[in-house]
Amino acid sequence: MKNLMAGNWKMHKTIAEGVAFVNELKAQLQDRPERGVLLCVPSTMLHAVATAAKGSAIMVGSEDMYFEEKGAFTGEISPSMVKDTGATATLVGHSERRVIFGETDLVVNKKIKAALTHGLLPVLCIGESLEEREAGKLEAVLSTQIKGGLEGISAADASKIVIAYEPVWAIGTGKTASPQDADDAHAMARKLVANLYGQELADKMMILYGGSVKADNVDELMAMKNINGALVGGAALEVESFTRISNFTCSGKCSCSK
Ligand code: PEP
Repeated sequence: MKNLMAGNWKMHKTIAEGVAFVNELKAQLQDRPERGVLLCVPSTMLHAVATAAKGSAIMVGSEDMYFEEKGAFTGEISPSMVKDTGATATLVGHSERRVIFGETDLVVNKKIKAALTHGLLPVLCIGESLEEREAGKLEAVLSTQIKGGLEGISAADASKIVIAYEPVWAIGTGKTASPQDADDAHAMARKLVANLYGQELADKMMILYGGSVKADNVDELMAMKNINGALVGGAALEVESFTRISNFTCSGKCSCSK
């Protein structure tokens, strides 16, 4: 898999709507094994959606999970519970988890380790607020989130992680980072990964862009050298737009074999 288009349904859809979406997406997806497709869905429908996606190219993941295995953690789901549904991935540290639910880099780090222990693909979400960007803190924020999120994780495990760069000011706002700004931030994140694990691993790491990705801007984003996919919120709720995003056209400007 050379790139990944991930959808994040957040707190939307019934089970029936989720299953219908997957059935429609299965019928519309181009058969291209180098392109991964992941749907991160509410825990209420993980099992049903994972069952519907079984045998297709569509991976299913949770939007979050707790790091403990079991116990008195009312309202939470464990990594084993996520696996038990048939899901194979999870988002970790989405900005809505960080901002609304106060999730710290330490918690994010524990969740990534727990996901890896259970063989789930963790998608580590990072990104700066508008205030931080305007104060020139982009690199400092990415560095803190990458170092904190990956603390104590071996190179072998780090190679099983996907990073999603999502500038918080671009999520759900209709404001997209320009392809060049996004690519610059991805290059920065890749350099920070290289500082921790070396250039070879960093070059192979998939870094997705998230923040108002839509059918009409995906191609120009995917043409950028350092962008290996997208994490899509709003435009992943409609099967037509998510299908178009997943079947993106690479302009061929880059050498990425997208
Ligand atoms: C997201 O939720 O991760 C996201 C990027 O949302 P949107 O595409 O709606 O900006």
